[in-house]
Amino acid sequence: MTPRLVLATRNAHKVVELRAILAETGLDVELVGADTYPDIPDVKETGVTFAENALLKARTLADATGLPAVADDSGLCVDVLGGAPGIFSARWAGTHGDDAANLALLLAQLGDIDDPHRAAHFACAAALALPGGTERVAEGRLRGTLRRIPTGTNGFGYDPILQPDGDTRTCAELSPDEKNAISHRGKAFRALAASVAELVR
Ligand code: IMP
Repeated sequence: MTPRLVLATRNAHKVVELRAILAETGLDVELVGADTYPDIPDVKETGVTFAENALLKARTLADATGLPAVADDSGLCVDVLGGAPGIFSARWAGTHGDDAANLALLLAQLGDIDDPHRAAHFACAAALALPGGTERVAEGRLRGTLRRIPTGTNGFGYDPILQPDGDTRTCAELSPDEKNAISHRGKAFRALAASVAELVR
């Protein structure tokens, strides 16, 4: 029987994205979203690193469902801000998920910073937790520089201001496939796929 793996997100887009990454690696697992288990409460992200928060979400879901679970946590880390917004990326301007306000605040904070000092990266930790207690975590990064004017309409969050190293476009000007191929999330989940292949059967 094909083993089932549950993904700690109610975001259907992330389920589709991870299914594509796992399919690429040839893994034979059935991936289901947390929506399949509606009674599971939302997890409070009390960790202080991406890895801690990803593991927290995966562990909670594995314990609640009795199934292997995967979760991710991600954000934007700006060099000149010492890695901020980091784990606070989704609520940098105060309200969770207000992408436009988060982006506007960050641009204002960096207003006086010259181009050579505008390096940043997206970071993602992807975690696997098994019901028995085994845990694995893998991380991925996408390095680039921050533009002054948001450009492009694809993607979400800080995509319109991060220009990946080696490209002339922002992440919001890349197609979804182009972004997945180089993204922090793609890298983290492709790395985690090796642990899924080893441990989930
Ligand atoms: P989460 O991991 O889905 O909670 O994402 C945290 C926050 O980090 C998002 O709300 C975005 O602000 C930011 N973020 C994470 N990944 C990306 C990305 O690929 N593009 C743009 N923003 C991102």
